[in-house]
Amino acid sequence: MAKIRTVLGDIDPTDAGVTLTHEHIRYAYPGCEHDHRNVWDFDTVAAEIAQVLALGVTRYGIKTVVDLTPAEIGRHPELMAEASRQSGAHLIATTGFFPESAAMGIPFHWRRQSVEYIEEMLVRDLTEGMVYDSRLTPYKAGILKVSTGGLGKMQPTPAAGDDGRHVGPYERKCIRAVAGAQRKVGCAINTHTQPMDYAFTNPGIELLDLLEEAGADPGKVIIGHAFVHPNLDQLKELCRRGTNLQIDHIGIPWQNESAEQLDELIANAVAALTELGYIDRLVFSYDRFFSHARGPITAEEPEQLNELVYWGYLHESFAPRLAKKGFGKAELHKVLVDNPRRLLAF
Ligand SMILES: [Zn+2]
Repeated sequence: MAKIRTVLGDIDPTDAGVTLTHEHIRYAYPGCEHDHRNVWDFDTVAAEIAQVLALGVTRYGIKTVVDLTPAEIGRHPELMAEASRQSGAHLIATTGFFPESAAMGIPFHWRRQSVEYIEEMLVRDLTEGMVYDSRLTPYKAGILKVSTGGLGKMQPTPAAGDDGRHVGPYERKCIRAVAGAQRKVGCAINTHTQPMDYAFTNPGIELLDLLEEAGADPGKVIIGHAFVHPNLDQLKELCRRGTNLQIDHIGIPWQNESAEQLDELIANAVAALTELGYIDRLVFSYDRFFSHARGPITAEEPEQLNELVYWGYLHESFAPRLAKKGFGKAELHKVLVDNPRRLLAF
């Protein structure tokens, strides 16, 4: 029987309700564990996260949240479990890594391992429990993650490999490991692509090509952050090939002038893809950071705007914008409830 794997155990997919497919209960780059500004109290932070999640459950029916934080970016299984217990929200944890650009993701320990070694870890995270700080926890991951791309304005699109694809050697290892783990376990793969790269290359298509070549099921792949470029050709091609797109950064002005500007861009993309019959291929999320570790919010750290978005913004602000474009309640239900339920089921 199909099931969705949350940190507190498997649930029936019909119990998932409104589901956001890419959030971060905690978000912190490698090295932050030595930062004086990153000393935090577990109980206080767990309670803060739970308060937001509980509001989502009671006021907006947001019953399930995928924490798409890779292990090296501060994934904390025990914090997830505690926030889930206190809030009543189902939390789904991730196994897999961030992009290799600028050493942001795939720590050195993992760069040295074989595809088979990485695949074994991914499968054990999904079936035995995740390891935190050298301790095996009883909390299992419920989705795989793989990442590619540069760092936007900070670092442009990575150079192409021999096959013309802009994907690094360690990312390629992880792609093969993730595809292998998916074949064994049967769960979904969510992905990080760099939105700025879509103006120069075909990041979603390149990633899907590599995943398919490694044997992944494209119907259980979600291409994340695939929304910023106004030219929809790449998105249409991804839908035509039977994979899924995650419309995220709703209410967060990532690499745009304002949240309104990005909302309008992505609402138009949603309306156009729906018009073409691709509504079954869409999921929504914020990419919100619930707690962080980089000091006060400044203009130099614009990513921290991911913390400010209101948890009900999708329902209060983005849904009315979509409704004006003919994307009503029934369509919203499909994208927030039906599609993620189908995708996240093992
Ligand atoms: Zn994210």
